[in-house]
Formats: sequence, structure tokens, C-alpha cells
Amino acid sequence: MSCEIQEKSRVGTINPIFTCQPAGAQFASIGIKDCIGLVHGGQGCVMFVRLLFSQHFKESFEIASSSLHEDGAVFGACHRVEEGVDVLLMRYPHIKVLPIISTCSTEIIGDDIDGVVKKLNEGLLKEKYADREVHLIPIHTPSFVNSMIGGYDITVHDFVKYFSKKGTPNFKINLITGWVNPGDVKALKHLLAEMDIDATVLFEIESFDSPLMPDGSAISHGNTTIEDLTDTANAQGTIALNRYEGGKAAKFLEKRWDVPAIIGPTPIGIRNTDIFLKNLKQMTGKPIPQSLVKERGRAIDALTDLTHMFLAEKRVAIYGAPDLVIGLAEFCIDLEMKPALLLLGDDSTQYKDDPRLVAMKENVDWEMEVITNADFWELEDRIKNKGLQLDLILGHSKGRFISIDYNIPMLRVGFPTYDRAGMYRYPVVGYEGATWLAEQMANTLFTDMEYKKNKEWILNMW
Ligand code: SF4
Repeated sequence: MSCEIQEKSRVGTINPIFTCQPAGAQFASIGIKDCIGLVHGGQGCVMFVRLLFSQHFKESFEIASSSLHEDGAVFGACHRVEEGVDVLLMRYPHIKVLPIISTCSTEIIGDDIDGVVKKLNEGLLKEKYADREVHLIPIHTPSFVNSMIGGYDITVHDFVKYFSKKGTPNFKINLITGWVNPGDVKALKHLLAEMDIDATVLFEIESFDSPLMPDGSAISHGNTTIEDLTDTANAQGTIALNRYEGGKAAKFLEKRWDVPAIIGPTPIGIRNTDIFLKNLKQMTGKPIPQSLVKERGRAIDALTDLTHMFLAEKRVAIYGAPDLVIGLAEFCIDLEMKPALLLLGDDSTQYKDDPRLVAMKENVDWEMEVITNADFWELEDRIKNKGLQLDLILGHSKGRFISIDYNIPMLRVGFPTYDRAGMYRYPVVGYEGATWLAEQMANTLFTDMEYKKNKEWILNMW
């Protein structure tokens, strides 16, 4: 019995788990107030990403494209960035932040977006927009390496690097949430409020669950301001919840501005939420209040009702964003479940040394595989041809057909989730998230028991 961590051996990808780096840059950008990203590439690089955001959040987001065409792909298209910036500034008088996000095509042809930014700063902005605060930030996200996860990490870093500036201490902490849902942000803010901690939640997307107002306005935007980003250099410390989605920025703040950083663990499950609260206590000196001890107790009570009877020994496959997958796997192990397969969908070389995966490799006593650079065929092939028996799949909506075709119950979690209603509203982090996840896993299994007439009578006795 063992846990193997290995890269997919096949060349090529059949049904990818992730989309590309610029998607991550676009997600980080929509977390900033008064910001519209300008993606330098073909229109599809924006259209499909916007569609994913809209499908997942059921909201509309504004992202621009330089709309590269054949001539630009051959002769270069920096002029389209120049025109695009001008048009955006004319059309949207409130915009202050304009990241220029590169793509695979514009990186390959070598369009110099740093040079364009310099030219615009010295020309157009001085001549035509001298009375406006405008920040043009080049973001390099060639999509032939890494994935949307790396793109998010790079962009968060680049924004923080651009804006952070030493001033007077603000006695706050920086909280970099990573790529989460509005429900997660709400749950994290609740934990901070209970501990009476003043935090700057960065790339804050709570309002992506936005109200439809009487005047008809419904466009969502993030809440992180330029001032928030500038002030990151003056915080007591930074906690980045995810190693691969914000860890780079936390390290930068520590190195450049001496702001101590704690990276991880992703607070999924009881164990990791406990560590998160202890980290908050260590960083701020604030005690963990009785209200959270009670909340933890309620969560443990809920889990105890489910674990032994329904969740223990269940074999599960998990795919999606690495910190989410690893956090979910740790939680499943704590619930006595048996993660059999973890799929991490990009070519990052860091996974094999991730201490959380190394700990699983050393400690699990059942057959478990962790596949990096994985695609959905890695899951399907094992089920179809190699006898992999699963009780449950955890992952986003792109894997739904494997669940349907092979009759394996699946709980939707991660991004994008568009085939179940309102999932973005619920947290997976904190004690609240632990309860929600465990109960949803159990309910998914209950429905499957009924559908397959598999010991469904137990539900009468429980
Ligand atoms: S892979 Fe390249 S062309 Fe395709 S969406 Fe991503 S950046 Fe655009």
C-alpha cells in the first residue's frame, strides 16, 4: 500500500482540468476596484474566460481584449494595446488600474508590453490624461507554461509589487485568500471579526454575489482598492491561505518590506482551520474567543454524526486547484475517507516537494495516486480500463460527464461550477465550510444510495 506522486506519462492532454495563465490574471484583476484588464491576444482569450466567470458566478464582468488578428500575429500588435488603453480610458472615466495581460500568441511573437507601457506613460497619459490617476501594469502570462493557477499567483504578486509602498504601520494583517468563492470570503471575514482582527482582505470578491439593484445595475467588481494594495507594505504580517495562489506575493512582501509571511495551510477542515486561527493569534496576539471554540464544537458534532456511519472508508477522487485538492484530501483523510486519486492539472514542478503531499506519501496505508500535469482522461481511464473503484468524486463542473457516464456520485466544488445552483455562495473554508462539505458529501452519497437502492433503508434508521 502506498501513495505515488507522478507526472502524467502521456504526451498531450485529453479534456484539460484547467484553463490557461491569462485566466488567472483576469480573475485577480476583477478583484480590484476601478480596474479593467486589457488582455493582449485574440478575442477568445477573453471571451471564454468571461464566459467561465459568468457561468460560475451568474454575474457579468468587464474585461477588455486587444483583439489580435492575423496581421498582428505576424507583424506585431503593440499598436493595438496603445489604441486599447486610449479607448478604455475614454469609455470608462472611473478606471484607474489597467493591467496589460499577455497571452501565448503575443509572448511568442515577442510583443514588448513593458515597452508599450513605458511609451504610454511618457506619451498618451501625460498628453491626454494628465489629470487622471492611471496605472498601467504589464503582466506576463504566457499560456504554454503553468495554468490559470500560476497566472493568478503571478498577477497577485505583480499588483502587490507595483503598488506596495512603505509608510506608517497600519497594525492590520494582509489576508490573501487565493481563488475562492464569495461564500469563503464571508466565512473568513466572520472568523476575523470573531477574533477582533483588522485585516485587509486582498483581491476581495465577496460582492461577486452581487445584488440586482432597483436601478438595474448588476455589474460585479472586486473591492480591493489601490490604497489597500499600497498599504500592504505597512501591515503586521501577511497570511496567504494558498501556497500556489498568493504565496509569491506574501514572500515578496516579506523580502522587500519585512512584512512577516505565513503561507498556508488552506483552512479546509477542522485541523487546518485550527492552524489558521493559531496563526492569526500568533501574528496579532489576539486570543481565540469562546464563540469560535463553540463553532468548532458544533462542526465536530456534525462530523461525528456522519463519519463512522457514512463517510469512513469511502474512496474518493479529487481534481482541481492544487491547494483546494490537497486541503480536501487532508479533510477526507481526517474523516477516515480514502482519497484514491488526486489530479493536479498543470505542469508546476513544485508539487512533488509539497510537504502536505509528502506527508500523505509517507503516511497513507492504502493505494493512492497523485498525478500532476493531469487531465480528465487520467480519471476516466482508471475507472473504465483499470478497475478504479470510487464512491465519490469531488471537483468542478468540467468533470461532470465522468460522473454521469460511470454512475459515480459527485459533489461540485472548485472553479468553474455551473451545473448546480448557487454553489459559490457556500464556503469550503473554516468550521462552517467543514460542516457544509461533510454534509454535502453525505447527502450526495445518500441520494446515490437511494438511486441505486444500495442500503437505502439505513436512512430510515439513522
Ligand atoms: S491558450 Fe493562448 S490562445 Fe488559448 S485562451 Fe489561452 S492565451 Fe488565449
